[in-house]
Order: sequence, then C-alpha cells, then structure tokens
Amino acid sequence: MGVSIAIDGPAGAGKSTIARLVARKLNFDYIDTGAMYRTMGLYLDRNQISLSDEAAVKTACEQAEIGVTYENGEQQMWLDGENVNDQIRNEKVAGLASACGKLMPVREKLVDFQQKLALSRNIVMDGRDICTVVLPRADVKVYLTASVEERAKRRFLEYQKKGMACTFEEVKKEVEERDYNDMHRAISPLCRAEDAVLVDTSDMSIEEAAEAIMKLLPEK
Ligand code: C5P
Repeated sequence: MGVSIAIDGPAGAGKSTIARLVARKLNFDYIDTGAMYRTMGLYLDRNQISLSDEAAVKTACEQAEIGVTYENGEQQMWLDGENVNDQIRNEKVAGLASACGKLMPVREKLVDFQQKLALSRNIVMDGRDICTVVLPRADVKVYLTASVEERAKRRFLEYQKKGMACTFEEVKKEVEERDYNDMHRAISPLCRAEDAVLVDTSDMSIEEAAEAIMKLLPEK
C-alpha cells in the first residue's frame, strides 16, 4: 500500500485544483473520483438507461468499461476504449454524475475500482466519500470546504473563462442543489469524517491550502 492523502468536500471548494497541486509537489498520482462518476453518468445517458430501472443500471455497471491512465500524474478517463476526458466537463454531465452517484451498483463498482488503484501507488484522491468509505485508513484525511458564495464565484469564473453562457445566480443555484443532493443521499452522503481535518479555503490561496495539507503528512 502506498502513501495516501484523502480529500472530501463539496463542489467548488477547490478540491481538484488543490489535490492536483499537492500531488505534483509530492510526485504522487492525483486520482479524481468525480471524473469516474461523471464517466458512469455519461455511459448511462448515452445508452438511455433510466436511473430508476435497477436491473438495467446493474447490467450497465457490469458492461461499462471504465478505465484510467496517468500521464505525468494527470488522470485520463476512458470509457469503452474512448478518451472521454473533455466530454465529462460540463454541467449536464455533472448532474448525471450526481444522479447516478446515488445508486448502489454504481458506487460499488467505482469504490472497488478506486480502492484497487490506491493499492499500488502514492496518491492524492479526492471526492465525497474518500475519507469515510474508500480510504478510511488514509495517511492524511482532509475535509476541504469554502462558503457557498465563494464556491459559486469560482465556478462562475471558470465557466466564463471557457466561454460558457450562464449567470452567477444559475451557477450558485446549481452549486446549492448539488450540495443538497450530495449531503442528503441515502448511500455514502458527503460528510466530514470524524478524524478528517477541516480546511476552509474561503480566504486561502491555492498554494496556502496545498501547504496546509502537506503539513499533515507524517514524516516517513
Ligand atoms: O467532483 P465532481 O464535481 O467531478 O463530482 C461530480 C459528482 O459526482 C458529485 O456531485 C457527486 O454527486 C459525485 N461523486 C460522488 N462520490 C465521489 C465523487 C463524486 O458521489 N467520490
């Protein structure tokens, strides 16, 4: 088992940016589990599988070939042999990910996949249930958050940069809805693990947050 840093938190807290930076500084692989839920969401959507059809979802989980590769520490997502990294980065797929993340067969498939990935390498893994379910024995456990206002602002600026048409209010509503869904679902809801260190990034730079996390790493 390699060294593992587990980071959970709501959408827009800066998890992926900060986790990626920590991984780069330590020369670890950054494992983005949200991308896996997005990929599964894309698969279910492409195959027009109704999320309420339990049997169909279970079969889909057996059939979908989800893979990852790491190039210079950067994760690439593969679905049935196709690189889908760019296709999973939009709000529609974020919604699909959030919806399919409620389903047991999807979580079982992806948690198992994530635990196997962690076995053989040094990693920084982020998501919603990493400290609580996937890697409860991680070397470092962090709950990364920021105010809703600040998280919506960051998302909004990100979308503007990409030239996506939306208003701040729409983005804020989307962030609030996703928070609610992630925190209130029956299986593995987003919550802070008892022993996870709370890091609030509302008034922190990315660099400061990365430093705060790296300080938690025990000397080995
Ligand atoms: O982090 P990201 O925004 O890419 O995640 C998309 C969605 O996937 C989240 O809103 C959440 O519902 C789901 N997810 C999850 N468990 C994880 C990672 C993501 O349920 N470990």
